[in-house]
Amino acid sequence: PFELSGKSVYVAGHRGMVGSALLRRLAREDVNLVTVDRREVDLCNQAQVFAWFAQVRPQVVFLAAAKVGGIVANDTLRAEFIYDNIAIAANVIHAAHVNGAEKLMFLGSSCIYPKLAAQPLREDAVLTGPLEPTNEPYAIAKIAGIKMAEAYRSQYGSDFISVMPTNLYGPGDNYHPELSHVVAALIRRFHEAKLAGARSVAVWGTGTPRREFLYVDDMADACVHLMKTYSGSELINIGTGEDIAIAEFARVVAEIVGYSGEISFDTSRPDGTPRKLLNVTRLSKLGWRATTSLHDGLKRAYEAYQASLLVPAQ
Ligand code: GDP
Repeated sequence: PFELSGKSVYVAGHRGMVGSALLRRLAREDVNLVTVDRREVDLCNQAQVFAWFAQVRPQVVFLAAAKVGGIVANDTLRAEFIYDNIAIAANVIHAAHVNGAEKLMFLGSSCIYPKLAAQPLREDAVLTGPLEPTNEPYAIAKIAGIKMAEAYRSQYGSDFISVMPTNLYGPGDNYHPELSHVVAALIRRFHEAKLAGARSVAVWGTGTPRREFLYVDDMADACVHLMKTYSGSELINIGTGEDIAIAEFARVVAEIVGYSGEISFDTSRPDGTPRKLLNVTRLSKLGWRATTSLHDGLKRAYEAYQASLLVPAQ
């Protein structure tokens, strides 16, 4: 096992949904947490990243910084998604190597797997077929990050590992109506429909795609567990092992939010990949499983959304 206690631990992306969950989780460990404001170090800026690492020399790195978004954001901001995510991965992984970091965890995404790979998605399905076109730029950047971690391990012996989370949700999510992921989008849309007394709410696509959803605090707990217990070049999927059709998922969100009107499907909107369920055999063999049910996670996510409405935008 890898000893985290007493180490300086840098969380890249600490203001994001995953990074802030990692800070909450790492507060329970005996570590010296390190973060840096984006105004001081832009992770896309190589010179800034290299200078900061040379000065701070964190011993452990969680690379949770990324430019992310839902299906529309991925499909329309294609250049930003590939450039920013390749730059962040390249800058942080190389700087961690040059400055002697003992361990680094790169966070990938389940969208790295081929669109039509066998389900549940096994880690060895990566690079066996064409990607889902809507998020190909993001997926290619994440595959580059994974391959970097692998290459630094094989050439330099660096203890760099990669984990692949399924679709995540929870406090700190982005609620932009167009650019968000489905969980945040539906929480907001049903909430606003409830307040407005609307009779019908449109869900994108056909409602038939299936997705797996993991509460972000479970994700953070899995990351800390794997940082301590796993070392190797193989990817590790992080999910619940269960998926749900978007139509049924929408009904669950509507119930939690308290919206009782009709739900319609806007088929002019994209479905994306038909199914995305991770095989979590490796993760369970490593001794971790998710503990927050979809119902409880969504209740907490909805509470966090309502609380965020009370805070003036920064
Ligand atoms: P994906 O897993 O990369 O496709 O990410 P998303 O969270 O954006 O979308 C998941 C699924 O939810 C897709 O099939 C979408 O078509 C569907 N979906 C339904 N309504 C919405 C919505 O309002 N916003 C988003 N982003 N997706 C939606």
